[in-house]
Amino acid sequence: MKDDFDKWTAKDARDKKIIVAILVTMTIASTIQSGMLFYEHQQLKAQVTSLEEDISNNAEDTYTLLASDGARLYTIMDTLIRIFHYAKPHKQPAWNCPECSEIHEKAKKNGSVSTANLKKHVKVKK
Ligand SMILES: [Zn+2]
Repeated sequence: MKDDFDKWTAKDARDKKIIVAILVTMTIASTIQSGMLFYEHQQLKAQVTSLEEDISNNAEDTYTLLASDGARLYTIMDTLIRIFHYAKPHKQPAWNCPECSEIHEKAKKNGSVSTANLKKHVKVKK
């Protein structure tokens, strides 16, 4: 009976040592993993800070480039539309055509017949 008890306690003590060893190993591994994650986090934080500095330093240049690019594209588009006005004439004023708009405005100033004062002329005829 006492031998059985000794066997049990010896076996329990061995199991406890194994469990403690596993727990210690898991704790050490978890601590190492946390340290690696913290290190990685610090590196990413430094990269983000560096990128933010780059962006804030170059924001003015980027805005100027975008504005000049937009102005250039607007000029190209306007020129193309004006070229199409004469290269492929439309039979009636086209929507958003700057040439048609200028002709329309000139006619409006001179008081000649245009779509702007057409209603006025129609009323005159009555
Ligand atoms: Zn036109």
